[in-house]
Amino acid sequence: MWIFLNGQFVSREAAKVSVFDHGFLYGDGVYETLRAYSGRVFMLSRHLERLKQSAHLIGLDLPIPDKDWPPLIREALVRNGLGLRGAAKGPCDAYLRISVSRGEGEIGLDPNLCSRPTIVIVVKPFTPYPLHLYRNGVRLALVSVRRNLDRALPPRIKSLNVLNNILAKQEAVQAGAFDGIMLNAQGQVTECSTSNLFFVYQEQLCTPAEGCGILEGITREVVLQLAKETGLPVQEGTYGATALWEAEECFLTNTTMEILPVRQIDHHIYTKGCPGPLTKRLQSLFRANLSRFLARFLE
Ligand code: PMP
Repeated sequence: MWIFLNGQFVSREAAKVSVFDHGFLYGDGVYETLRAYSGRVFMLSRHLERLKQSAHLIGLDLPIPDKDWPPLIREALVRNGLGLRGAAKGPCDAYLRISVSRGEGEIGLDPNLCSRPTIVIVVKPFTPYPLHLYRNGVRLALVSVRRNLDRALPPRIKSLNVLNNILAKQEAVQAGAFDGIMLNAQGQVTECSTSNLFFVYQEQLCTPAEGCGILEGITREVVLQLAKETGLPVQEGTYGATALWEAEECFLTNTTMEILPVRQIDHHIYTKGCPGPLTKRLQSLFRANLSRFLARFLE
């Protein structure tokens, strides 16, 4: 495994970060999770844009210019045998994680204590979610943990500090669920710990609006685009928990899971079959249109 660390590719054993790194000490930094399909990254430019936006929102300048990111990502894939040529040997989807922390510095919260950010890119073969989750759907729990208040720690920052989401996941797992749905401070539905939430109500595709305080998911964006293109009525709105009980279908989206059906939320079971008809349609649309959303690196 070759890991990009501050300007060079090093072995996994050599990829070490200081105990004085503010990412470690304070969760001061941002990250992105990406997926490559046979060497081509899903929505690469949007992921890079979101990384830059997250960094901007915490006052962190990325030391790598925009134009250098795509070749760097391509090199990270190729070095790990997961580039386009590696793909010729067989299906080899990749998981990529870019982490950018404030960097190493003396103890103290002031970002000025750190002179340069730490940048890490990890690439490894992609492990898909078990097939039975797609066949049977997952069970979610509505958790008591509320999503971060937008004016305290905006959920649109993909921050290295994911304790809010970890607390939600922990509560869900303790309840025997796959993940937890968080409400915001006003009691409106937001999202799960690492995914956006969709539901179908009277054949309309619904999802919490960005203003509810969510991470603006890139898969969410693609699903909304595909739904609109195919003429499905779409509503981005604000919903209380009752909307979930009244819904006919429900599913989750993120870069690694794509579209994952939800069978049950707490004791409420979706009875239209799981995956439901509209979920199935969107899953097929997603797969049929996938290549449109994959980056083409210059070879
Ligand atoms: N919400 C949260 C909190 C997440 O961590 C993620 C994963 N990045 C998502 C939603 C889904 O985003 P994307 O589709 O860009 O992976």
